[in-house]
Formats: sequence, C-alpha cells, structure tokens
Amino acid sequence: MGKVKDLTGQSFGRLTVVAFVGIRNHKAVWHCTCSCGNEVDTTAKSLVSGSTKSCGCARSEMAKQRAAEMGKRNTTHHGCPRNDPKARRLYQVWSNMKARCLDQNHHAYKIYGGRGITVCAEWLHDFSAFRDWAISAGYDPAAPYGECTLDRIDCDKGYGPDNCRWVNMKVQAENRRSGRAASGQYTKAKKAAPGVTSTEGSRAE
Ligand SMILES: [Zn+2]
Repeated sequence: MGKVKDLTGQSFGRLTVVAFVGIRNHKAVWHCTCSCGNEVDTTAKSLVSGSTKSCGCARSEMAKQRAAEMGKRNTTHHGCPRNDPKARRLYQVWSNMKARCLDQNHHAYKIYGGRGITVCAEWLHDFSAFRDWAISAGYDPAAPYGECTLDRIDCDKGYGPDNCRWVNMKVQAENRRSGRAASGQYTKAKKAAPGVTSTEGSRAE
C-alpha cells in the first residue's frame, strides 16, 4: 500500500471503508459500504475532507425533503398558494366571492346571498376549479388593480362559468348602469336597496 494511509474500517458519515481499490489518477480509491446498503468507490481525499458522506442517498433524501417542505409551504388544504402573491390574489377573489354569497356577516351579503346570488357547486368547494376557469377565461394575474375584475354578466344570476367574465371596472360600471336602466325601463322589481349598486363588491379586491 506504500504511502497510502489505511482507512479500512473507518467511518465517514454513512460510509464505512471496506477495502483499498487502488490508485486512480494519482488518487487512492477505497471501496465503501453505505448505511443504506449501497456500495461505492470513492477517493481517500473526498472521504477525509468530508465532501463525500454517503453513496448519494443523503443528498437525494435532502432534496426530497426540501421539495416536500416547499410543497407544504406553498399550499393549504384548499390549494391556497401562500408564497405566490399573484396566485394569492386570485384566491382572495374566490374567498370574497364565497363570503358575499354565504357569509351573513359580510358587509355585502344583503345584496348577494341575501337576494339569492349563489356560487356554482363546481367552484364552491374547489379553488382549483375556479382557478382553472379563471385562467381559461383570460384572468391576468399581473393586471393592475381594477383592470381584471370578476364580473357577472347577468346581475341577477349567480357565480359560475357561464355567467362570469373578467373585465375592467369601467366595463363593470357600464354593465351596472345598463342593468339599472333596464330595470327602470321595465319597472322590474328592484333587487337591490336604493343607492346600493348590485355589483358592488364583485370587484377583484
Ligand atoms: Zn447510501
């Protein structure tokens, strides 16, 4: 073995040196077993310096753990993307929409849930269904405030893929006006309290 230091039986991290393999490229190479059961050949230098501590299993375990932790941090049980402000914004739109229709303590409940505006079953319990629709319907997560808001085409119908669209607040205000004009013209039973606009609160934020 000459000048090569005998490492047989020594442990480095998960590796235990079993036998000397030989000199490769002027480096002493040792055969090791890993605590996971794998066997590897590695240089004395990388063992002694600590740069090699396993057959590679420790590194891939750490990567898996990191990925799992990232996944955990990024989602809740509803799939709420915590670390992504743009995605959070859409989640907020979804939450607010549900609150207007279902939460009697919401300030706008009276003109939503209170007058029969509902959220379709598909969206109600599944943020991802709403998100998929939003993206397919042209939701722009990067749009400035007020430029991409959730609008109901027919103010008397609920939230669902067939009655919703993304518009800017100008269009939404026009829709509101024409809805009002129509109900005035045909003297329809007024659905909202006077002075309260029927689409108020359906803005994205
Ligand atoms: Zn291993």
